[in-house]
Amino acid sequence: MAFLSDALNRIQPSATMAVTGKAAELKRAGRDVIALAAGEPDFDTPEHVRDAAIRAINSGETRYTAVDGIIELKEAVAAKFRRDNGLEVSAEDCFIGAGGKQIIFNALMATLNPGDEVVVPVPYWVSYPEIVRLCDAMPVFATADASTGFKLTPEALEAAISDKTKWLILNTPSNPTGAAYSAEELKGLTDVLMRHEQVHILTDDIYEVLVYDGGKFATVAEVEPRLIGRTLTMNGVSKSHAMTGWRIGYCTGPRPLLAAMRKLQGQSTTNPSSISQWAAVEALNGTQAFLSEWREVFQARRDLVVAGLNSCEGITCLTPGGAFYVFPSVEGLLGRTSGGGARLETDSDVVLALLEETGVALVQGSAFGLPGHMRLSYAAATEELEDAVARIQDFCSKVS
Ligand code: PLP
Repeated sequence: MAFLSDALNRIQPSATMAVTGKAAELKRAGRDVIALAAGEPDFDTPEHVRDAAIRAINSGETRYTAVDGIIELKEAVAAKFRRDNGLEVSAEDCFIGAGGKQIIFNALMATLNPGDEVVVPVPYWVSYPEIVRLCDAMPVFATADASTGFKLTPEALEAAISDKTKWLILNTPSNPTGAAYSAEELKGLTDVLMRHEQVHILTDDIYEVLVYDGGKFATVAEVEPRLIGRTLTMNGVSKSHAMTGWRIGYCTGPRPLLAAMRKLQGQSTTNPSSISQWAAVEALNGTQAFLSEWREVFQARRDLVVAGLNSCEGITCLTPGGAFYVFPSVEGLLGRTSGGGARLETDSDVVLALLEETGVALVQGSAFGLPGHMRLSYAAATEELEDAVARIQDFCSKVS
């Protein structure tokens, strides 16, 4: 009898975590490594947010809370959805989890049965298909490649939907590509969804605040209010407020779904950290002024990285509208040999040779379902990015 569960055997460990781990190992061994593989802001959590957490500790907010979060945070979340997204929701329509990932996990775990299908645009954030598989359901991949700016088209969505489709997972701005949908582009998709009543929509809006070039963030429930009854709008403070370690994600959605998620969370992790919840109240209710400063810094870094990569022979990079990732094609390097003598047959070969020969750690596109590409996270200091781009340029100039 196998000791490990069949469910666990269906899934893969996180590829992004694996590269980050390998880069950390090389660093410990004394190598000069620039890790651009992880997806977290390099800024510190703002001081007023840290202070709120310290106050929570010192005033005894250190006990179990309601499973789905303290009322103060649910009210702050509802106010945020009303303020930023035009969603007329109250605290009872909101739910708090230990990170955006737990929200997604709970929603899928609470709803999926064997045989159910979940439409996942490709390339995707690594965890979506794995969580679907863990639930014994089937990810159905819909193409959203460079030819459409890494965006799902209404035609590709229509083709992926069947009578078994329970969810569409939509992530804008996107990890790994940075693609950000406009309201019009979302409307094209919601028109399709209006014709398929069995499909629920999980929108992962975790990069909401990072939309560049004056673009305006849009989310499904705002663009098509008739879909509110079957949309789970997920968000969190991890990326927006540089709080990845605090583990707070939140969502709004239909109350019966939230009740099912509460039941699941009540029998697993219970409430997210009470201290982190108070920090998140301050993050959402306190000043948001620094967000636009951070956005400008990220946009400048994006421009630096896109220009640098496009000057490399063998690499082509689209300019994404949001998040802090670029997803360049490395097809021009394939079938060739690196300066260090490595054969570059796949995107994984390119990423490995880059790490070994230059110390720059990126993630292969195949980890996100789209070979021939790689993901670079520019949530790193500007000098580090300049150095990384110079090393990648040098690497490419030596490929023969
Ligand atoms: N969704 C996307 C698209 C992400 O990139 C990430 C983190 O990398 C998450 C969700 C998870 O966020 P959290 O750290 O709040 O669980």
